[in-house]
Amino acid sequence: MASYHSTRSSSHTCSSREAVRQGLAPDGGLYVSDSLGQTKIDVKGLANRSYTDLAREIIALLLPDYTADEIAACVDEAYTNTFSSPELTPIHRVGELADSEAPLYSLELFHGSTSAFKDVALQMLPRLMARTTPVPAKTVPGDMPEQRSSEAPTERIMIVTATSGDTGKAALAGFADAPGTGICVFYPEGKVSRVQELQMTTQQGSNVAVSAVRGTFDDAQSAVKAIFADTELAERLRAENIVLSSANSINIGRLVPQVVYYFAAYAQLVRAEAIKPGDAVEFCVPTGNFGDILAGYYARELGLPISQLIVASDRNNVLADFLATGTYDRRRPFFTTSSPSMDILISSNLERMLYYLSDNNCELVADLMAKLQHDGVYAIPEELLVKIRSIFSGGWASEEEVAHAIRDCYERFGYLIDPHTACAYHVLTQTQANQSSRARIMLATASPYKFPRAVAAALGLHVSEDDFECMKAVAAKTGTEAPKALAELATETPRFHDVQDIDQLGAYVEQAARMLDA
Ligand SMILES: *Cc1c(COP(=O)(O)O)cnc(C)c1O
Repeated sequence: MASYHSTRSSSHTCSSREAVRQGLAPDGGLYVSDSLGQTKIDVKGLANRSYTDLAREIIALLLPDYTADEIAACVDEAYTNTFSSPELTPIHRVGELADSEAPLYSLELFHGSTSAFKDVALQMLPRLMARTTPVPAKTVPGDMPEQRSSEAPTERIMIVTATSGDTGKAALAGFADAPGTGICVFYPEGKVSRVQELQMTTQQGSNVAVSAVRGTFDDAQSAVKAIFADTELAERLRAENIVLSSANSINIGRLVPQVVYYFAAYAQLVRAEAIKPGDAVEFCVPTGNFGDILAGYYARELGLPISQLIVASDRNNVLADFLATGTYDRRRPFFTTSSPSMDILISSNLERMLYYLSDNNCELVADLMAKLQHDGVYAIPEELLVKIRSIFSGGWASEEEVAHAIRDCYERFGYLIDPHTACAYHVLTQTQANQSSRARIMLATASPYKFPRAVAAALGLHVSEDDFECMKAVAAKTGTEAPKALAELATETPRFHDVQDIDQLGAYVEQAARMLDA
């Protein structure tokens, strides 16, 4: 089933399985399917659906050439005993931000093993990836010709991932010791929290490599995209039966599992009788690479009644400016903030949104992306901007506003949030609810204990040089508890100490690929 093609050209198509395996399309575009939205999920029946039940239906719809059995197995493996909440992504009623307005809820996405929302997708992606391994021609059913390959049985995958802080650990946790797979993670030196860095550098597993890079996340992500486009490197690796792929949200297999929690949130609200089936709700999403909020757009296309999707940025407010003006301009200073996972100036997944909202206009998308690459700026047609604005709105929070939001949310509602979630909270306090919305839902993307220093400072606590002292101070003040895996980092010894220049990443990947067992 050839259902996917690049955002930049529809001439070459492939199966969803192949799209997951490759990550990025060969022309540098992102894989999209034109059948998105043709089949809807039954909203009236949502109340009775469990998370895993929804996951099976939604993943099957979006990745149509996996079998129902394969998807069921992936869902079971990914979501049995891997999250500390029975709902996986529980919803918490925060309270009313303003009188006579729809109440605010928090969709807690951080109950997985690495305490950020990336766990939801990165528990799933390795299982989906494992089921893309080509098998010898004689055992393949005739209807899957792209699965045939003569050198197939031993082909291995090297996952190459740039991280702004949270993807790295979640991907390492998902892929560590996965058979036939290696993983290489690059994070920007000095631009992630101490806890995030330790999470990555202490990772166990024989197939993992972690390195800091001198530069920003954008530099690292661009270098990784260049590595995928390096045909000579690909040839050398192919000679050793290794292919490269991505665990970033440019991979459709990363995006699809994130669609599920939008539906699961809605189902929980119906069960709690906070809304009736069919009521409109709005989501506000702390945004960096535009993956999480794009999953919300996919949910809307699948029939979820979403009145608006609100992009919340930090001081790196390129998206808020884009939504205000229609001009995407990355030529601006980069700021390292207390919400490092959103310190991004090139939001890769915006490309998919532009594709869909321009009515599948590959030429336009290719042209805009070329302008972004060469000039660092592009402007979209007015009618496209109008269409985008009918669904998306946006705002951003300065560092002072983030700190104020953490404190305000805690003092008014007794609810502790991390600096990323605080951007969403701030933007919601600044924007009126859509008239039709019955609930305002902010996505809580990380545990506050991943950023204990910023949180302690926002709460006015003594800020120690030691992040683990900050954790204790936050716990004592709020009566909450640090996730065990984070507190235990205090006594773990880092395994990785590498720092690379941006132009060395290709060589580093090649070396890491060689450590994969043949
Ligand atoms: C990755 C991340 C984000 C940004 O999500 P995108 O999908 O890149 O927009 C926000 N908050 C946290 C905590 C994250 O880890």
